[in-house]
Amino acid sequence: MALRAEAMPVVDRLGLEALPPWESMPWVEAYGSSDERVRIVVNGVDPLHGVDSIGTTAGALTAAVAIERFEPTWVVSAGTAGGFASRGGRVGQVIVASGPIIHHDRRVDLEGYDSFARGEYPTANLAAEAELLGFNTGPCSSGDSLDAPPQDIAAMQAHGTVAKDMEAAAVAGVAARAGCQFTALKVITDIVDGPEPTVEEFLSNLAHAGQVLGTALPQLLDVLSTSLT
Ligand code: SAH
Repeated sequence: MALRAEAMPVVDRLGLEALPPWESMPWVEAYGSSDERVRIVVNGVDPLHGVDSIGTTAGALTAAVAIERFEPTWVVSAGTAGGFASRGGRVGQVIVASGPIIHHDRRVDLEGYDSFARGEYPTANLAAEAELLGFNTGPCSSGDSLDAPPQDIAAMQAHGTVAKDMEAAAVAGVAARAGCQFTALKVITDIVDGPEPTVEEFLSNLAHAGQVLGTALPQLLDVLSTSLT
């Protein structure tokens, strides 16, 4: 997870405790409990800039050290995302990833490198589980900007993106290379093709989205750890 505001309601709900930090990356936060079924790992506060570490670089680094340390079966990128009114999106909606997940802001027009850059990493088919929990499913994509310039919008339109975030594709790429099952669970905080400016809409809905995640993520983890391992 990227933001402490997203992670703490989940940590509280699951009753997890802080685990010892990594020596090489002490800003990355890990939480767990004695039964070791679930760990929440948060990108943490960037030591250079003093804000939560968001984006694909932090997402990939955290995923890599967390997978090495905890050797999980499942990796879940959980957090908030932008939605699209034109594809049925609304604030507060819970999305489980379906189909391949891409980097919508990477363009390398060289043979082989285009799909390398876009990632196109697999996500688990959790359609039945999502329906049971009352969550929506759909294509997710990630980029390193909170805004959405026309080229990114075109890539997301072609992909059918219903959740636009800044980490999930990077985490999915590390999970795929490590042989872990992957899914993303995202709560919509802002509508990319809506009238409100993204920053204001995101900030006014972040606390509520954190509470929604605090319920939705434990529900999904319960399903993954009881029926799908
Ligand atoms: N924490 C900062 C800003 C967070 S940036 C603050 O409170 O000021 C947005 C974070 O939420 C990223 O981690 C990203 O994954 C997610 N996110 C939510 N809405 C998004 C959108 N429309 N586009 C991209 N990322 C979004």
